[in-house]
Amino acid sequence: MTAFSDAFGRTIDYLRVSVTDRCNLRCIYCMPPEGVQPIAHEQVLRFEEIARVVEAAVGLGVRRVRLTGGEPLVRRGIGDLVRLLRALPGLEEISLTTNGTLLAGMAVALKEAGLDRVNISLDTLDAKRYATITRGGSLQTVLLGIDAARQAGLNPVKVNMVVLRGINDDETLAMARQSEERGWHVRYIEVMPLGVAQHVCGEAESSVDGLSTGTVPNAAIRAEIERAYGLLEPVEIVAGGPAETWRVPGSSGSIGFISAVSHGFCDVCNRLRLTSAGGLVPCLFSDREIDLREPLRRGAGREELQALIRSAVALKGPGHHLAERRVETDHQMSRMGG
Ligand code: SAM
Repeated sequence: MTAFSDAFGRTIDYLRVSVTDRCNLRCIYCMPPEGVQPIAHEQVLRFEEIARVVEAAVGLGVRRVRLTGGEPLVRRGIGDLVRLLRALPGLEEISLTTNGTLLAGMAVALKEAGLDRVNISLDTLDAKRYATITRGGSLQTVLLGIDAARQAGLNPVKVNMVVLRGINDDETLAMARQSEERGWHVRYIEVMPLGVAQHVCGEAESSVDGLSTGTVPNAAIRAEIERAYGLLEPVEIVAGGPAETWRVPGSSGSIGFISAVSHGFCDVCNRLRLTSAGGLVPCLFSDREIDLREPLRRGAGREELQALIRSAVALKGPGHHLAERRVETDHQMSRMGG
């Protein structure tokens, strides 16, 4: 198998698949309070259609798929999709990003269906604050979901924290402590200027739901953790993502920093995104996408799908350079698949 690469020599081996644009939470930096206008049911790709796209992509060199959304666990029968994908020869890893609220009752079945691991989004350890950030979610359901995922063997379970200045940035150390005390694999994520978050990013004072906020650079978080724990040790972790991975000395968990804003990782970008409506997106910050739904529904074969996938890869630019310029986009994370 020859490597599948783009015009800039980057190997493309990772596909993120948004299985729904619907979500059972309304995180303040991700969605407006009323949610987003859901796309019509018939416009959402069926599982069999998603599997055809993934099969074609695997034929080109994609090795890993991540299911996301919206909230992937609100899509009925999601385990059936995992099972369909698991049957594809050459697909090495299936992971899923979830808010974790429904995971406690689903983790074992997802593992049995063939899911390898999960990332769970959790921005705070305080129940009241969790309800504020998610506009009504229950922290306890997520903590149960994390435990269930670990017991089911969906490891390494990563816990993703989007850090918002003045809202949860006083909890970055408490989250690091979970890597020591509970063996969590914590990832700090810089809030990106997408959709409703566009105005909360950057140095300027801004507000969301009446709360004043902004970006916290990961370098500041790391410095705070190292003041408390001493220098972090580098860790090799299987199935790594765009996070530099470290550990608090002596801990079984890990700490990573996903610094898309302060230190873009476009030069090692290995991914494409499939929206729930069947658009293939070359970059979170691109306004271009290749429609796969229409070809899928008129019976396009593997080769035609592969040609379309190649054309999406050809649209990948060198980088979004978020640190140097504002990228104007009305993209919603829930639609693009976070
Ligand atoms: N519902 C699932 C979840 O909560 O993980 C999957 C979709 S959600 C859009 C995926 C991830 O994107 C979450 O970790 C969320 O915190 C993150 N996210 C949403 N908007 C973001 C933004 N503007 N910048 C950085 N991360 C964001």
